[in-house]
Amino acid sequence: MAAYDLKGKKVYVAGHRGMVGSAIVRRLAAEACTVLTATRAELDLTRQEQVEAWMERNRPDAVFLAAAKVGGIFANDTYPADFLYENMVLEANIIHAAHKVDVEKLLFLGSSCIYPKFADQPIVEESLLTGELEPTNEWYAIAKIAGIKLCQAYRKQHGNDFISAMPTNLYGPGDNFDLKSSHVMPALIRKAHDAKMSGAESVTVWGTGTPRREFLHVDDCAEACVHLMKVYSDFSHVNVGSGSDVTILELTEMVCRAVGFAGKIVHDLSKPDGTPRKLMSGAKLQGLGWTPKIALEDGIAATYQAFVDGNFAERQHVSAA
Ligand code: GDP
Repeated sequence: MAAYDLKGKKVYVAGHRGMVGSAIVRRLAAEACTVLTATRAELDLTRQEQVEAWMERNRPDAVFLAAAKVGGIFANDTYPADFLYENMVLEANIIHAAHKVDVEKLLFLGSSCIYPKFADQPIVEESLLTGELEPTNEWYAIAKIAGIKLCQAYRKQHGNDFISAMPTNLYGPGDNFDLKSSHVMPALIRKAHDAKMSGAESVTVWGTGTPRREFLHVDDCAEACVHLMKVYSDFSHVNVGSGSDVTILELTEMVCRAVGFAGKIVHDLSKPDGTPRKLMSGAKLQGLGWTPKIALEDGIAATYQAFVDGNFAERQHVSAA
């Protein structure tokens, strides 16, 4: 299969302010391409006419579709309409507009929550649609499954080179640290940091701490996405993971060590555990010549540092105002 060359190409990163999109933009600095972005004020991705007009004006050669309404287990469970509607609409708008202006290559980003709640582990790509979804995030999952199917449908009907990548739980700089809407990693970083600063005796973890999750640093994910953009052109989506998982309790212990909080860990059993395990098989991506580089402990330490730096910058900004 001929490699897709990004050199000299106009590359649109949809969702460039998000954690994944911003990591892709950072990674693309190493490619001889022109990166196109649009802020939410310039382009509302849920408005079809705006998306089509923007695509018509800018005519990107390649698109990374990293825009999405994302959130942790609580947000997903609380705002099902927002997660289903906004994600379905924005991905349909971008994929259809990309087809209309003859985008050469598009990579759609989904999530490991597309797989059945009780899929065999490690989860292979072929497990898609073989069982019931996890109820706490099925709304988001259905929208992401529709995105994969859109890419496949445009490939089948029109021959568009649209591919999909399904990353595992991602973390890193630029993450959402708001406790009500965040995923577990940034939530634990914030909770452990706040506990350390206030001299609290304990941090509270949602659920039993027994669910297992796989984590990948977002810079590794961006690297994998650029790799796939260059080497992969096929119907099936591709898993993007780190290859190993930890329990939420083990993760909490790692975060507390990185933050320097030595207090107790207590459980809030009124919060859901969600899916028991979702370790993905990385065999397909490995076969395409890619493996992750950032070890979990190193990634957590770097993310904590970015959190502390960001917090400090925020405070300085406020006090200067
Ligand atoms: P999920 O992978 O879709 O379930 O999303 P999350 O990253 O939000 O949650 C992963 C697991 O971490 C679930 O079992 C949560 O109950 C657990 N968890 C423990 N403490 C927290 C927390 O403070 N915030 C979040 N979001 N999850 C937590």
